[in-house]
Amino acid sequence: MTQSPSGQIAVATDSFLALAAALLGPRGLTQDPDLLTPWLTDWRARYTGRALALAAPASAAELSALVKLCAAHGVAIVPQGGNSGMSGGATPDASGTSLLVSLRRLNSIGAVDTDNRQITCGAGVVLHDLHEAAASAGLRFPLTLGGKGVATVGGLISTNAGGTQVLRHGTMRAQVAGIEAVLADGSLYSALVPLKKDNRGFDLKQLLIGSEGTLGIVTAARLRLVPALAERAVVWAGVPSLQAARALLLHCEKAVGEALEGFEVLPQACLDTVLAYLPSARAPLEHKHGWHALIEVVADASGAATLSERVETMLASAFAAGLLEDATIAANEAQAEAFWSLRESVAPAERAQGPAMQHDISVPVAAMPDFVDAAVADIEARFPGTRALAFGHLGDGNVHFHVLAPEGVGAGIERGAWEEAEGKAISRAVHDLVTHWGGSISAEHGIGQMKRDELARLGDPVALAMLRAVKAALDPLGLLNPGKLLSPN
Ligand SMILES: Cc1cc2nc3c(=O)[nH]c(=O)nc-3n(C[C@H](O)[C@H](O)[C@H](O)COP(=O)(O)OP(=O)(O)OC[C@H]3O[C@@H](n4cnc5c(N)ncnc54)[C@H](O)[C@@H]3O)c2cc1C
Repeated sequence: MTQSPSGQIAVATDSFLALAAALLGPRGLTQDPDLLTPWLTDWRARYTGRALALAAPASAAELSALVKLCAAHGVAIVPQGGNSGMSGGATPDASGTSLLVSLRRLNSIGAVDTDNRQITCGAGVVLHDLHEAAASAGLRFPLTLGGKGVATVGGLISTNAGGTQVLRHGTMRAQVAGIEAVLADGSLYSALVPLKKDNRGFDLKQLLIGSEGTLGIVTAARLRLVPALAERAVVWAGVPSLQAARALLLHCEKAVGEALEGFEVLPQACLDTVLAYLPSARAPLEHKHGWHALIEVVADASGAATLSERVETMLASAFAAGLLEDATIAANEAQAEAFWSLRESVAPAERAQGPAMQHDISVPVAAMPDFVDAAVADIEARFPGTRALAFGHLGDGNVHFHVLAPEGVGAGIERGAWEEAEGKAISRAVHDLVTHWGGSISAEHGIGQMKRDELARLGDPVALAMLRAVKAALDPLGLLNPGKLLSPN
């Protein structure tokens, strides 16, 4: 027997599993620990759970039937895509009563609709494959991030992922033209038709975007594409401070306007960590700098011929204004990719470095430099031995604020014990600061299980009540991703 999150006593697990196995076939359901275990721990290895089994339906129809079966038996579902999420949203709890449902088999990519500049694909399509499919039709999917080799369309939608092109194109929310999803009762919501205008009530797809698998399970999406780039200029710049980086950002926005596609920052300590992690990589600039900015400026066919001239002018005037210490423009695509690889390796390099508390936060863009200075000083003073650093999407007012554990944690002192004893207090302190500065404790990674209690502690009560009301209306039994985003009561 197993107990559902809503408190109902469900029928015997064995009979549920037998019915699910008959429905999904041998490829669709497994309890084999070798196949199941790798998916029970999150990317950061912070959470490990247990599950009844791993289900991998082959179609939306199969998933719909499976969810109906789960609803009838009171079995909770944890949807999972690439398992690259940063908030523990795709990891089941320790009870072992939930079914882990992988969407990875729903990975078909439809023909590109070049007239509408859209593509329809399954929730299990990996971001990198989506990029390739768009490129093969002379178009581009304008969202990318370091986890592009594993993150899936369903996961990107469910976390409303950001990445390094938000500055110009917006988050995942802006890329979705239509959604198909299985709801908590097993019904299939399908809205994949390309309508430019549709005012039949609430925008239901937007409700599902960013809902972290708590309102429905995305099975397919219709996504917007943009014209392929004709040319890009990728610049690595050294600046003395985050204040200087912000001044440089404003300068670039003024100089090239909408052609500014990305503006990422990292402190020298972060670059050093990446260089140690990637022994074959080289620092783009000769000397060390307080901060580094990675800037991408793009052009379509009409602007391609003049792009490098415009970027050189932009940099020359930045030097003249004293905004830059040094800068280099990637000489070719290989070097441009190498610059981006340094940025995209920050997360894995930092993970390999050792225990840390991570915070994905936003404050108003103009306030970010002062916030980072104040928060670094405050946290390092209150938690002696820790080292705080921030990196990421300055152009979006979003940085990843990481607090590295004191020496000895992970070696003599157990990581989990430190996280419980000091790590949680650090996160509360960081989130209090963010709230004080008018920011958000989740800019792009979602709430998952990692920030659930912090959202409950710091969230606006009216907003929390609205979230709970929507959840209760769409998932009255509380079977979709229980314990994530919202606490049970
Ligand atoms: C190196 C690296 C760099 C990253 N950089 C960024 C970044 O710059 N910006 C950013 O936003 N994120 C970043 N991420 C985080 C991660 O890639 C995103 O959160 C991504 O959207 C997760 O996709 P996924 O398929 O792996 O989802 P999962 O991790 O499997 O799931 C994430 C959440 O979505 C739910 N979910 C998954 N699929 C579905 C579905 N089909 N229907 C309903 N719910 C579903 C899960 O239950 C869970 O709550 C990075 C990750 C890595 C490893």
